[in-house]
Amino acid sequence: VIHPARVPAGFAALGGELAIGGRAASAWAAELDTPCFLYDRALIERRIAELRAALPPEVRLHYAVKANPLPELVAWIAPRVDGLDVASGGELAMALAAGGEAGHISFAGPGKRDAELAAAIAAGATLNIESSGEFERALAITVAQGRMLRAALRINPDFELKGSGMRMGGGAKPFGVDADQVPALLERFAHPAVKFRGFQIFAGSQNLSAASLIEAQRQTIALAARMSGHAPTPPPVLNLGGGFGIPYFPTDTALDLAAVGRALAESWAARPPALAATEPVIELGRYLVGEAGVYLTRVIDRKDSAGELFLVTDGGLHHQLAASGNFGTVVRRNYPLANASRFTDPAAETATVVGCLCTPLDRLGERVALPHTQPGDLIAVFMAGAYGRSASPTAFLGHPLPAERLT
Ligand SMILES: *Cc1c(COP(=O)(O)O)cnc(C)c1O
Repeated sequence: VIHPARVPAGFAALGGELAIGGRAASAWAAELDTPCFLYDRALIERRIAELRAALPPEVRLHYAVKANPLPELVAWIAPRVDGLDVASGGELAMALAAGGEAGHISFAGPGKRDAELAAAIAAGATLNIESSGEFERALAITVAQGRMLRAALRINPDFELKGSGMRMGGGAKPFGVDADQVPALLERFAHPAVKFRGFQIFAGSQNLSAASLIEAQRQTIALAARMSGHAPTPPPVLNLGGGFGIPYFPTDTALDLAAVGRALAESWAARPPALAATEPVIELGRYLVGEAGVYLTRVIDRKDSAGELFLVTDGGLHHQLAASGNFGTVVRRNYPLANASRFTDPAAETATVVGCLCTPLDRLGERVALPHTQPGDLIAVFMAGAYGRSASPTAFLGHPLPAERLT
């Protein structure tokens, strides 16, 4: 099977080359060297506008920093969204440094250490509580600091988000508090040092099915309403999760965002009275930034082995683990890629594009139809805006860190 080289929407040619942020690939490679990551802010801006148009106006849009924690990107996106979701003390510090308002930062994740809890409490960020043990540690730290604990309760839902690339709710999970344990824990939220901030229910990630997301949002609203009766006050916020996926593979169809928005408008308008004054939040990482990124590498060598053409690049899984198929995938499939130097040339050969690491796992594209490609040509691997450099084993084999640039 030969896979066509593919290009996601929003990327065009300039003088026969791929343009990123309005500039030819060769100009970026000359300035930053290869490999490098480029994130096109115009594409992120467009995606934010699409979300604002599709989702009901009362929905607050949060950016999940772990998708791409480049400080320059976080600082740029912070004023364009309504809040930042962080998952570690490091991300919290970065969100605050990027100008994120503590009142609009929420901190989720299992295994928060005391020092991380203390930093979040001192800053006034909201803690998304993942267990009763974590709640008690946070409360003790709050009392010792003489402050108030802004705490939301993350619920491990009693339903699953069907069709998710990564399930993070339903059944036995390290995330959140099982729905049946929530009422007992909510009694503790009546403590005078606790300001109850609401619920977070995040069922899964990388979902392309509008029907599944719509169903999960309906169930999330119903579950939150049921749990509200046990809370000290009505929930000020309901974080409905997100999980909006992006089409990485040829067999994928882009999410029908308009359908999700219409259904959410309906189910939110029809929400139970317990949530009448509640503010809905959608938190997104990859859907905001994933498609805006390009990983640019250079072909070092061209060789033949047993009749197969290999293009060896200066990049690899140490920078872009997900594109190599080693980050949570069962069957390896190609991310879209293209010859950025001969972007408008027709396909003339079939090649397997590999990285420079000494492991057979290091593949960027298997049997891809490409123009006739020479050492020195640039290869663009698309869909590199989320879970790229920061989610890859960059120390493996001791290559230098790739540059990153918000274009
Ligand atoms: C990772 C994560 C996200 C972001 O997921 P994406 O698939 O990048 O949108 C959002 N919320 C929580 C709680 C997460 O752990």
